[in-house]
Amino acid sequence: MPATRRIDGKARADRLVADVAAAAAALKSTSGVVPGLCAVLVGDDPASQIYVRNKGKAATAAGIASFQESLPATESEAELLALIAKLNADDRVDGILVQLPLPKHIDPQRVIDAIDPRKDVDGFHAQNVGHLWSGGKALVPCTPYGCLMLLREAVSNLAGAEAIVLGRSNIVGKPMAALLLAENCTVTLVHSKSRDIPALLRRADILVAAVGRAEMVRGDWLKPGVIVIDVGINRIAGGGGQSKLVGDVAFAEAQGIAGAITPVPGGVGPMTIACLLRNTLIAACRRRGLTEPAI
Ligand code: NAP
Repeated sequence: MPATRRIDGKARADRLVADVAAAAAALKSTSGVVPGLCAVLVGDDPASQIYVRNKGKAATAAGIASFQESLPATESEAELLALIAKLNADDRVDGILVQLPLPKHIDPQRVIDAIDPRKDVDGFHAQNVGHLWSGGKALVPCTPYGCLMLLREAVSNLAGAEAIVLGRSNIVGKPMAALLLAENCTVTLVHSKSRDIPALLRRADILVAAVGRAEMVRGDWLKPGVIVIDVGINRIAGGGGQSKLVGDVAFAEAQGIAGAITPVPGGVGPMTIACLLRNTLIAACRRRGLTEPAI
């Protein structure tokens, strides 16, 4: 049984953060610019608070100025849009990150579309989505870009590979498909209405799973040697009354079949924050017409 390689997303993310920190330090010394990232948090969801805190800490550690704006869950959409307008005009802010989900009475797309696309470090604004699909200069969504970075290291030549993306959300599946297409993969998007999903997945040289269903992809759905990027983060009951995190792919069953696979946790997750810092740095350079670091 050939061994399945573990793709270490944590190690790759650490390298990327170090590269961002070095480039941010160089930017500061050559042009006096300190990139700034502002997280906008509406409401008091504990998970969102933790995400925002972690992103802020990571930014500061990489030499990026971190700001936070917190609004109560009862804040109106108009107030939030006014805050976005203020941040769009604030020269210290290069990246605006609105933590999702937003309270039900606020339309997330209206808020995303109010962000200056040059500061849209999540890459969700329609202008960035359009540039991504048409080959323009986009700010690319962080999670799929992190997946692509891992794939570029795991696969010597992506061109011509049969790539299956399981899940078609705007934040993961669709931008992932656009990125793989740009790498000249043959791309199939699989979703909840797809027929015979196991048969579709068995064609994959590259599989990116982003459905949010614990261990949905079984070992016998995998083609021998497939490179698996598991985006899913699912909390399930573990032993002794504890819970544990698992991905969308049955990790143990993939051993000896997949050529390589990302673990959960420790795979895609760390890459997402690292790519957010990278996007902030790139946004800071682009907005000022400065040379972008090649990282
Ligand atoms: P989402 O918006 O809920 O989208 C899930 C997608 O999976 C949808 O396109 C849905 O199809 C499809 N799907 C659901 N059940 C299916 C089934 N039984 N068969 C086939 N397709 C099915 O989720 P998301 O935001 O993309 O996130 C997906 C997972 O990635 C979640 O576990 C999330 O926590 C994780 N995630 C991780 C990171 C990270 O940093 N590691 C970042 C983002 C997300 P339809 O479109 O047909 O409904």
